[in-house]
Amino acid sequence: MIHDLISEFAGELSAIRHDLHMHPELHFEEFRTSKIVAGELGKLGFVVTTGIAGTGVVGTLVKGSSARAIGIRADMDALPIHETSNLPYASRTAGKMHACGHDGHTTMLLGAARYLAKTQNFDGTVHLIFQPAEEDISGAKRMIEEGLFKRFPCDAVFALHNIPGDEAGQISVRPGAITAAVDIVEVTVQGLGGHGALPHMAADPIVAASGVVLALQSIVARNVDPHDPAVITVGAFNAGGLATIIPGEAHLNIGVRTCSKGTRDLIRKRIESLVNLQAKAFGCEAQIIYNPGISYPPGYNTPEHAELVRDVAIELGQDPARIDLRGPYMFSEDFAFMQEVVPSCYFCLGNGNSRSLHDSAYDFNDELLIKGPEFWGKLVERFLKAA
Ligand SMILES: [Zn+2]
Ligand SMILES: [Zn+2]
Repeated sequence: MIHDLISEFAGELSAIRHDLHMHPELHFEEFRTSKIVAGELGKLGFVVTTGIAGTGVVGTLVKGSSARAIGIRADMDALPIHETSNLPYASRTAGKMHACGHDGHTTMLLGAARYLAKTQNFDGTVHLIFQPAEEDISGAKRMIEEGLFKRFPCDAVFALHNIPGDEAGQISVRPGAITAAVDIVEVTVQGLGGHGALPHMAADPIVAASGVVLALQSIVARNVDPHDPAVITVGAFNAGGLATIIPGEAHLNIGVRTCSKGTRDLIRKRIESLVNLQAKAFGCEAQIIYNPGISYPPGYNTPEHAELVRDVAIELGQDPARIDLRGPYMFSEDFAFMQEVVPSCYFCLGNGNSRSLHDSAYDFNDELLIKGPEFWGKLVERFLKAA
């Protein structure tokens, strides 16, 4: 039984997880983590490739003669958060912690590696992808740019994230849209400053930017398909300082979340048009910077692979009614970059009743160190079914 087999090394897996938790490393600095991962994979007989996107690692195991290949991705980076958990294995580095459970994701995939190396009950190629920098600056994007899927072609690629609040081990998945894109838009409305008593000699950027804020509310309400979720939030509005002065400019910071490429492109066009025309209508000019940093695209699950994840969850005894997600998650994930180029499925695994992700007292649930590898093991065996 897969469960009993994995239970045998559960103690060793939690020791690895606690060690990673004590030694968190931020994006593209996962040197120690990457070395531990490469060492474990090497011991198990995987062909190990290091140095992709700096600290990224790929472990490859080939069995039989099938040309089919599956990729499974785990992320390795921690966050710049100071841990307040008081756990015996709490972070030993002030200001850094595994507050998103990537220590657990990495360890679950190492657990799957052990199971697969031991049982070898598949026909084809398994690529286990350990990526740096999921948070903010996209290690996935850099791995792809450095030839990830050219060097390790995959028929499909899978990834999961733990999710607090859902019962430990509960799988949640849906076909189609699964995670949101987040775009950041910086707007400067340039007016003509002046004396508060002489508005006719100025072009007031506060009034113009207020017009922009109200006009933006019409995009989701009037332009976007109601079945395709989107959120536009003006999170910052900065201008002026004194009641007697009309300032020269006003600044807006806008966050845009969308779940499809079509709506993402549509909203961008509408924002550019409304901002420019509104500013002009009030005698001002606008400058727009769309995405000053890297923005993550929307994640899309190919129906066939979402179905496979669902089937494996059912095979492992989960209630079908609880697996199906009604709508996509509105957070973003850099796995979406992989989803743009390879058929794929991203899903969530319940972390039980834990603190929230990115909370300074969050901890990954060690129960998943059995449930996660069990799922990955079954998925590989289904995807690369031995004759
Ligand atoms: Zn995170
Ligand atoms: Zn995360």
